[in-house]
Order: sequence, then structure tokens, then C-alpha cells
Amino acid sequence: MNTTTRNVDQTELAKFSALASRWWDPNSEFKPLHAINPLRLQWIADIAGPLKDQRVLDVGCGGGILAESMAVRGAKVTGIDLAQKPLTVARLHSLESGVPVNYECIAAEELAAREPGSYDIVTCMEMLEHVPDPSSVVRACATLVRPGGHVFFSTLNRNLKSFLQAIVAAEFVLRLLPQGTHDDENFLRPSELALAARQAGLQITHLRGLTYNPFTDRYRLTRSTEVNYLMATRRPE
Ligand code: SAH
Repeated sequence: MNTTTRNVDQTELAKFSALASRWWDPNSEFKPLHAINPLRLQWIADIAGPLKDQRVLDVGCGGGILAESMAVRGAKVTGIDLAQKPLTVARLHSLESGVPVNYECIAAEELAAREPGSYDIVTCMEMLEHVPDPSSVVRACATLVRPGGHVFFSTLNRNLKSFLQAIVAAEFVLRLLPQGTHDDENFLRPSELALAARQAGLQITHLRGLTYNPFTDRYRLTRSTEVNYLMATRRPE
């Protein structure tokens, strides 16, 4: 693949690059990612088992919030993204914290051609809603994980409630995220993600909602997948 045919929207990458220096500031635009990280990290470990010594790939890792937290638990983590600035921030943070993570600027599809079946766990969180062809990324994740390994996705559902909460409330009323962070046209229904996963040969094992309570300013895992949700899948042995 070359840069013209890559499955990437440059304006999306530019948004994340512009904010990159604030990635590790827990009160910045990335506050929601910091807030949800312990929840998703524990959910991954509950399903995939202790992360120690597992080979993990984090697709669309950005500044490395999830990637580094998995490495803290002893996983051998590679983080990939197509935006350079967030990767620079991720590398600097890893040097500073002394938690080793291997970061690379490469598309999931390209890495899949290079290292098929090489990871025990693949994570792809809050990324699919920024990509022109999400099913291509899902297929790449399915190729990258070993038989029997786990692939974890999270993204935003597409319906009136998610539009009101994830865009109107989060970007315009509560101002948790910069305006323009999300475009609901790119949101994915759980049924659509499930179809893409099944077509890529993955089995769906778990589906959880992630709900924000603006009154307590807290997130928790719930049954409602109407807005944010997480999907766990497994590649058959
Ligand atoms: N997964 C991280 C970061 C989410 S922010 C977390 O949940 O903490 C979304 C990330 O997706 C950004 O870092 C952005 O650069 C990346 N991204 C967007 N389009 C991409 C693409 N086509 N390929 C790889 N990464 C992409």
C-alpha cells in the first residue's frame, strides 16, 4: 500500500496531531481516554487473562495511554498509529516512565502483511470511527492475532442518542471533547462491527456498553451499548 491508497483520513490524523502535546494531561481533551482506561484495561485482562508476557498489539495507539498501561502489567506491547506527533509523545512518555513499548508508524493492513498471526492480543480502541474503511482494519486485526488469540474493539454506536450524547453533549454542552472530534456518519452500530468481525473470521465473545454519568463525572461498564461500547472477539484455534 502507498500513501494514496492507504485506509486513512488525513484530516482525522491532523486533529490528533494538533492536540498531541496534551495527550498525557489528564485534564486535557484526552481526559475521557484517561478516565475510561482503567475500566477497559481490567475488562481486557478479565477476558484475555493476566497480561504478563502476552504479545499485545495496540492499533491506533495515539499517545499510548492504553498501550503503556498494558506494558505496566508486563505485556510486550507494540503500538501503531499513522499520526507522527502522537507517536512521538508516546515514545517520550515511555522513556520518561521507563515502561518499554515498541511504537511504529505503520498501517494495520501493512503490519498484517508483515507479521500475520504474531500477537496474543490485539486492541483497537476509539479508532474505527476515524477510519474510511473500518472493516479493512478489522480484517487486519484478525490477521495479526494468532489462532486462539483475542481482538478487542471499542467505538461509538450510531443512533439519535449517540449523536446527542457523543457529539451535542460531549463537544458542545459539556465540552469534554473539541468540536469536530467526531462525525456520526462514521459511527458503527454493534451489528455492523459484529458483521465485519465475523466476515474477518472472528467470533464475538463479549459486548459491553461504556456509560458516562455527567452528574458524577464517572464512566462505568454497563449493558447499554447505545453510545460507547466495547466488543471482544476471538480468532478460532
Ligand atoms: N486508541 C487510543 C487512541 C484513540 S484516539 C486510545 O483509545 O487511547 C484515535 C487514534 O486513532 C489517534 O491516535 C489517530 O491518530 C488514530 N488513527 C486515526 N486514523 C487512523 C488510521 N487510519 N490508522 C491508524 N491510526 C489512526
